[in-house]
Amino acid sequence: MSERAPYRVQGRTGEWELVLGLEVHAQVASNAKLFSGAATGFGAEPNMHVSLVDAGFPGMLPVINKYCVEQAVKTGFGLRAEINHVSVFDRKNYFYPDLPQGYQISQFKQPIVGEGTLEVERDDGSRFKVGIERLHLEQDAGKSVHDMDPHWTYVDLNRSGVALMEIVSKPHMRSPEDAAAYVKTLRTLVRYLGTCDGDMEKGNLRADVNVSVCRPGQFEKFMASGDFTHLGTRCEIKNVNSMRFIQQAIVYEARRQVEILEDGGKIDQETRLFDPGKGETRSMRSKEDAMDYRYFPDPDLLPLELDPAWVKAIQATLPELPDAKRERLQSQYGLSAYDAGVLVIEGARADYFEQAAKGVDAKLVSNFTTNELLSRLSKDGLEIDQSPIPPEDIGGLVALIQDGTISSKIAKEVFDHMWAGEGAPAKIVEARGLKQVTDTGAIEKAIDEIMAANPDKVAAARDKPQAVGWFVGQVMKATGGKANPAAVNQILQTKLGL
Ligand code: ADP
Ligand code: MG
Repeated sequence: MSERAPYRVQGRTGEWELVLGLEVHAQVASNAKLFSGAATGFGAEPNMHVSLVDAGFPGMLPVINKYCVEQAVKTGFGLRAEINHVSVFDRKNYFYPDLPQGYQISQFKQPIVGEGTLEVERDDGSRFKVGIERLHLEQDAGKSVHDMDPHWTYVDLNRSGVALMEIVSKPHMRSPEDAAAYVKTLRTLVRYLGTCDGDMEKGNLRADVNVSVCRPGQFEKFMASGDFTHLGTRCEIKNVNSMRFIQQAIVYEARRQVEILEDGGKIDQETRLFDPGKGETRSMRSKEDAMDYRYFPDPDLLPLELDPAWVKAIQATLPELPDAKRERLQSQYGLSAYDAGVLVIEGARADYFEQAAKGVDAKLVSNFTTNELLSRLSKDGLEIDQSPIPPEDIGGLVALIQDGTISSKIAKEVFDHMWAGEGAPAKIVEARGLKQVTDTGAIEKAIDEIMAANPDKVAAARDKPQAVGWFVGQVMKATGGKANPAAVNQILQTKLGL
């Protein structure tokens, strides 16, 4: 576990440090909503996925969707968290045009999942732990559409009632990069679990970012005592939906708060919005306290009691999780932490790698996958499951290097042809005559010709053995790069009498 220096802001009156806690809303992967049978699919015509419950009709009764509960429990296990066998749904009351019930059904005092831990991986492969405060289930609201008409605002209730998991972290992050790494790791986790698709562009995973600043040493006091008064007042930046925006919003917000504090002002605990166009945060409303929502247990819903045997059965279905997979790839295939991390971040990448590495040098497979394949895919905006090269062909390419059929240099060329859709590597090598020349007769002939045509170079090389490099280059040129380098070297040594 590696501690990193926190992000610091240098002010007029000295240094300030950042403290960050995130609330991530993850839409539960489920075909139906949390309390109704209406569909959840994205991109439908407005108001096509709305039942009477979602539209808040009087007299309608919510009925819990068992599958959504299962998904929340699964995510709880992924977060190594306490699963609460009794939890309670509350009404969080507020008015919004896209909230027809006049309240959101959420969980307040007794969430379904309690404290846990997420081990976060940074891009460089180093790791740190973030405490999880809770995970609760709640309904999403509808959407107000302001840009369809110059005078009217429209309401689309397709999203109304869709199940969300709100995952609340402890204020344990200290830099914009670490906050982004947290969201990235969490996204990978829920995608492995199949409990949320993690699609940030569609808003299926979005973060509320809580930011405060404090003087050096204060955070350590908070960690030792759990006493929040050691920390500064926080502002919450709502619904940030990309890793880049999360970081930009934090940097801007830190600077803003430091300026206020150094001018002798006070931070108002408020909800702010990030404007990606301007790169700044703006006040949206002063932060409500829980009291303002007049939370109370929803009288339409009984406390949710989970059968321990059912919970155990869910635990038994958990797939291999990203951190376990990363460790296994390192120990089983000898990969570096960094390479294993790059592969594990998407389950499909790790699967691809393992398919390709069957029976061949895994390190070489990993290099071709992470360096050549992934960079080309990302250039074309493709995911690994859309790769034009099947994993067996990467394995086949590596096998050709290993048995000496081609050199690693030629392998790159073969890879280009594979990418262009020319088929299996062995076929390409055959069709294009790319086999490595190990036939010493052919190499000797090439060397003889070069030596005969360049007596001055021969003399130079006999004088200064480093000059032999020039001959190697010439032989490669003469053989189209196909000569076996070891054989070339050996024959040159003999012929030049070195
Ligand atoms: P609310 O419902 O008011 O948003 P929550 O308990 O749901 O409150 O979430 C509070 C979030 O704010 C948590 O993620 C927590 O880690 C974070 N947080 C609390 N205090 C601070 C602070 N001083 N600085 C930064 N983040 C904080
Ligand atoms: Mg909250």
